[in-house]
Amino acid sequence: MRLAFNRETQTHDACGSTMADIPHFIPLEEAVRLANEVKIVPETEEVGLDSSHQRILAIDLESKVDDPAFDNSAMDGFAMRYEDTLNPPSRLKISGLSKAGGSGKSIQPGEAARIMTGAPLPEGADAILQIELCEVEGSEVVLKEEGKKHFIRKQGENLSKGVVSLTKGAYLSPSRIGLCATMGHAKIPVYKPLKVAIISTGDELIQPGENLGPGQIYESNSFGLAGLVRWLGHEPVRYTRALDSMDDTRNQLDQAASECDLILTSGGVSMGEFDFVRRIMEEEGDLRFWRVRIRPGSPPLFGLWRETPIFGLPGNPVSSHVVFRMLVAPWIRNCTGADGPIEHRTRAKLSTKVKSTKDCVTLRRVSVEQTSEGLVAKQQVHQGSGNLASMATSDALTLLSPGEFPEIGDDIEVILL
Ligand code: AMP
Ligand code: MG
Repeated sequence: MRLAFNRETQTHDACGSTMADIPHFIPLEEAVRLANEVKIVPETEEVGLDSSHQRILAIDLESKVDDPAFDNSAMDGFAMRYEDTLNPPSRLKISGLSKAGGSGKSIQPGEAARIMTGAPLPEGADAILQIELCEVEGSEVVLKEEGKKHFIRKQGENLSKGVVSLTKGAYLSPSRIGLCATMGHAKIPVYKPLKVAIISTGDELIQPGENLGPGQIYESNSFGLAGLVRWLGHEPVRYTRALDSMDDTRNQLDQAASECDLILTSGGVSMGEFDFVRRIMEEEGDLRFWRVRIRPGSPPLFGLWRETPIFGLPGNPVSSHVVFRMLVAPWIRNCTGADGPIEHRTRAKLSTKVKSTKDCVTLRRVSVEQTSEGLVAKQQVHQGSGNLASMATSDALTLLSPGEFPEIGDDIEVILL
């Protein structure tokens, strides 16, 4: 099967490495840097604007036209020669009407033309006065103030024909799609969505909707991760969960590697006896790092499985979300140079105590509220990494550096979700 990308990767001699050579428990920035040594560049396709929402532009896009295409009025009112309005009130002869979609007639000295918003400026006119300041008396108009030159929208003042107005990697938000239309493009080249395999691992996992037996839980990570992949404009492929065995893990990884561009697994990357994703990557994969200095979410790994990039995410539901946001999303954006969607960073005053650590970036779930004292961050919910409600009911993560132990009232960095 033809995968939708070209690969750019620095090769490692996986067979020659031992676990001792593998970067272990590394800072987050180092993990992002190492992961970015592997890059897959998706193929491109042309889509109509209606299908371009949340896609990533694959070229620098030039405007086909000037915008505005012609000088026009920003107001409903009258168009006239500025020099005829210098001593208000001025009385001018009404010479005609210019409406949007029409073509502007010319005016002579001493004349004014009725004009509507967006209508072409009549030749000879160089000012507009809004209708509120004009009084029509029969075939004449009395202008109460001087004409305003700034109510003329000049040809090309927004966009010039042939000039790049959206650059390669632009995440196509509604206003950007509108801008493509303004530039005259009906179709645009975008990157094909990456096919992202999502494999949950764990004997205890049951699909929602089925009955739970003793010791079983509902599988939730693949649904959340699929949403995150879609949010980035790519295509999730959810696989049946892998059992905790080397054979089942290998079979699922092989199938995913043959069908998808990127693999995400959840669970099985810690130090437990049944953590087979870590074990199989150590023994049979090309492991690039394992464990990252973030809390929650310290167990992730990254590498290549049969040449397909793979992120092994932790099984705890909060951890899998957090690691996706901090590690997988930047990597996916880097493949296309996408400038969005991103989590915005800002600062907020802490109104509750949060627990942090000396050696990890701490990402607590907080709600943020705009108050008279600015943004205030509050930790409201039990912070266990198994408590997905703490993620679902919060709107930001704290971004505390290793060794940062803030007090109530301190200003801290937060990432808005
Ligand atoms: P693991 O990393 O496999 O040891 O899993 C850590 C915790 O996350 C365990 O409590 C698992 O039951 C739970 N877990 C693992 N995978 C999932 C999943 N896909 N959905 C919900 N919980 C999970
Ligand atoms: Mg497990």
